[in-house]
Amino acid sequence: MHPISIISLGPGDPELITLKGLRRLRQADAIYCPATVQPDGSLASRAADILRALDIDLAAIRPFPVAMRDDRAAALADYGAAVERIAAECAEGRRVAVTAEGDAGFYSSSGYVSALLAERGLLTERIAGIPAFVACAASEGVVIAEQTEETDVLTTLTSADELLGRVAAGRSVVLMKPSRYASAVKEALAQAPEGVAFHYFEHVGADADRAFYSCRRDAILERRFPYFSLLIVRRG
Ligand code: SAH
Repeated sequence: MHPISIISLGPGDPELITLKGLRRLRQADAIYCPATVQPDGSLASRAADILRALDIDLAAIRPFPVAMRDDRAAALADYGAAVERIAAECAEGRRVAVTAEGDAGFYSSSGYVSALLAERGLLTERIAGIPAFVACAASEGVVIAEQTEETDVLTTLTSADELLGRVAAGRSVVLMKPSRYASAVKEALAQAPEGVAFHYFEHVGADADRAFYSCRRDAILERRFPYFSLLIVRRG
C-alpha cells in the first residue's frame, strides 16, 4: 500500500508548491482538502482553489467539511469522518493525498488527520512546503533575521510590552493568527518607539484585490486583521 501523502501547498500562490508536492498530487487518485460550509450549503476550500490552478486531475479533488475553528469537538468529528473516507479509499488500493496550506507541520490542522491515520496504523509521508511567514517576507523583500538574530514565532500576546520587550532585546517576532489578539498588537503599534518596524500582511499570494501589505503604522491601525493576516516586527 502506498503511504498517504500529506502535501504542503504553500501559502496561496500556486507557484509556491514544491516540485515534489506537485508530483505527488499528480500521482494521487484522491486528494482530500479541508473546506468550510457556506451559508448556501456549498463547500469553500482555499486548498482546492490552489489545486484548481495547478495542472492536476480535478476529478481527484475531494473537499471535506470542517466545522468553524472555534468549535473544536465538531471539527474533530469532521476529521474523523474524513479519515474514514481516506481509509476506505486506501483499502481499495487508491493513492491518497491530504493537503495543507503553507507547511503541513507548521500550525496545520492536517496534524489531526495524520494522528488519526497513525492510530489506524496507516503510513503517511509529509512533503515540506513554504510557510506563510516566509512567503510574506519574500513578497516585500523583508528580512526575517540575519547573523545572530533570533526569531520568535508567537500565536498570542498577553500585552503590548511583551512584544516591544522582545524587539528591544534584539529579537525579530513573527505574529501568527493576529486576528485573535489584534488589540494588543495595535497597542504595541501605538506605543512602539521609532526604529521598530512593523510589517503587516494580508492574504499573501491571493488575488491582487485581496492581498495587502503596509509598514505604515496609521494604515495598519485601520485594518481589521482578518484570519489570513500576519506581522513581522523587528528593529528597522
Ligand atoms: N500552515 C500554515 C499556517 C497556518 S496557521 C503555514 O505554514 O504558514 C494560519 C495563520 O497563518 C493565519 O492566521 C495567518 O497568520 C497565517 N497565514 C496563512 N496563510 C497566509 C497568507 N496567505 N497570508 C497571510 N497570512 C497567512
